[in-house]
Amino acid sequence: MKYKSTRGSEHALSAAEAIIAGIAEDGGLFVPEEIPIVDLSFIESLLSLPYADRAKKILQLFLTDYTMEEIECCVETAYGEGKFDVEEVAPVQVLPDGTYLLELWHGPTSAFKDMALQLLPQLMATALKKTGEKAQVVILVATSGDTGKAALEGFKDVGQIRIMVFYPQGGVSEIQRMQMVSQAGKNVSVIAVKGNFDDAQTGVKNIFNDQDYNLRLSEKGIRLSSANSINWGRLVPQIVYYFSAYADLVKTNAVKLGDQINFSVPTGNFGNILAAYYAKEMGLPIQKLICASNANHVLTDFLQTGVYDKNRPFYKTISPSMDILISSNLERLLYHLSGCDQVKVRSWMRDLKETGRYQIDGDCLQKMKELFWADWSDDVRTAATIKEIYTIDHYVVDPHTAVAWQAARAYRDLNGDETTMAIVSTASPYKFNKSVLEALDGLDSFKDEFELLDALYERSRLPIPKGLANLKNAEVLHKQECLKEDLPKVVWTLL
Ligand SMILES: *Cc1c(COP(=O)(O)O)cnc(C)c1O
Repeated sequence: MKYKSTRGSEHALSAAEAIIAGIAEDGGLFVPEEIPIVDLSFIESLLSLPYADRAKKILQLFLTDYTMEEIECCVETAYGEGKFDVEEVAPVQVLPDGTYLLELWHGPTSAFKDMALQLLPQLMATALKKTGEKAQVVILVATSGDTGKAALEGFKDVGQIRIMVFYPQGGVSEIQRMQMVSQAGKNVSVIAVKGNFDDAQTGVKNIFNDQDYNLRLSEKGIRLSSANSINWGRLVPQIVYYFSAYADLVKTNAVKLGDQINFSVPTGNFGNILAAYYAKEMGLPIQKLICASNANHVLTDFLQTGVYDKNRPFYKTISPSMDILISSNLERLLYHLSGCDQVKVRSWMRDLKETGRYQIDGDCLQKMKELFWADWSDDVRTAATIKEIYTIDHYVVDPHTAVAWQAARAYRDLNGDETTMAIVSTASPYKFNKSVLEALDGLDSFKDEFELLDALYERSRLPIPKGLANLKNAEVLHKQECLKEDLPKVVWTLL
C-alpha cells in the first residue's frame, strides 16, 4: 500500500518512506491510497489474542512494505512484557453504573501518547534500515507537556536517531517538567524555552521550513523529522486499540459480534478520534463518534456548522492537552470526506493559513454529521463531572476523560441513542492530580504535586504509576534554557 499527500502534488511513498518523512514536502499529510477492509471473522479472530498480536494483525494491513518479522519485532519492543503496567495494555473497564472506559494510560508516562510513541520509534528505526537511509534523523518536538515525555521515553537510545524536546519554561506542570528534565538516554536533549507553547512550536516549525538550514544539515548527514501526530507512524498504532476494545466487549458479552457501538473521545489535535474513523471505515461496527472538547471548542463549532474559525480567545483549562485551536489531523478527514479532492483540501488549508478560517461545502458537512457528534464542557462542568463519577462509581477520572464522559451523556440525553458507549480515557488521574483533587474536595490545594500523589491515592486506591512515584527525588539531567529566537542556533550547537 502506498501513501500520498492530502495536498496532492507528490508521488506516492511506501509506509517506511512516509514515516521517515513525517510530513509531505507540499505541506500536506500522508494518507493511505486506499483503506483496507476487514470482515467480522477478522474481528472474531482478535478475541483470543493478546494486545500485541492484535496490533500485528492490524499493522500488517497498512505497513505492507514491512515484513512480518519486522512488525513482530517492533510490536514486541513496544508492548511486550513489562512495558505497560497491566498485561492487557489497553484494558476496558466496566463501572458499577454500566459505563465502559477504554483506559489508554498504562504506559510509561501515564498518558495515551504512549500507545503510539512506544511504537513509532521502532517503526522509524526499522524504516531507516529498510530504505538504506544513512542520515542521522533528528526528531524535534515542541510540547505542552504530554507529548515531550512520551516521545523521549520512546526514542531514548534508539540507534541512528536523536531527539530534542522544547518545552515552555513555566508552562508545564511540575510533574511534567520533572518527567522531562530527569530523562535518561544518550541521544536525548531537553530545553526550556523562555516563552509560551506557541513560541516553542513556531520556533520548531520555522526550523522545519528553513530550506537553507535543512540543506546545511543534510551536508552534515542529518535529516529532521517529527514525532507529532501529523506522522502516519503515530496514527496507525492508534487504530489498534479501537479494534481491541471492541474485541474485549464481544469477549465479555457486553455486545454481540456485529453490534454497533459508539466511542466518546476527548479531542485536541484530532489524532485519536481520526484513528477511530479509520477503524470504522475498515469495517469495525461503530455507529457514532463523539468529539469532546473543552472551552477551546473550535471543533464543536466546526462539526455543527462546517465553519472552522480559529480567530477566538485561547483559554488555559484543566484539560491542557486539549488546549489547541489548530487541529492538524482534520486535514486527513477532509481529504477522505471530500472524495480525495486535493484541490479543495489545498484551498481550505490556504484559507486557514491566510485568514484563520475556512468553510467546507454542504455535502462534506452532511457526511461529517452522519459520522460525528460534538459537544464541549467548561472547567466548572468538568470538575463537577469528576466529582459526580466519584460519587456514583467510586472511580477517579482525569479531566480529559471527564470531558469525554460529559459529552457522551449529553449525546445520549439529546438523541435517546442507547447504543453501547465506550468512553476513551486518555490520562491517569495522577498526572493531573491537583485539578482532580480540587474537583473532588472543592478546595484550592496548597500542597505540591508530589505530596498530592499520596492524597490522591487515599481517595482513588489506584496504584501510583511507577514513573511518577519516584519523580520527586529524581536527578535533574537537563538544565539548558534558551530564548525563543535562538532555537536554530541551539539545535545546530547540539549537533
Ligand atoms: C494529546 C491528548 C489528548 C488529545 O488527543 P488528540 O489526538 O490530540 O486529539 C487528550 N487527552 C490527553 C491526556 C492527551 O495527552
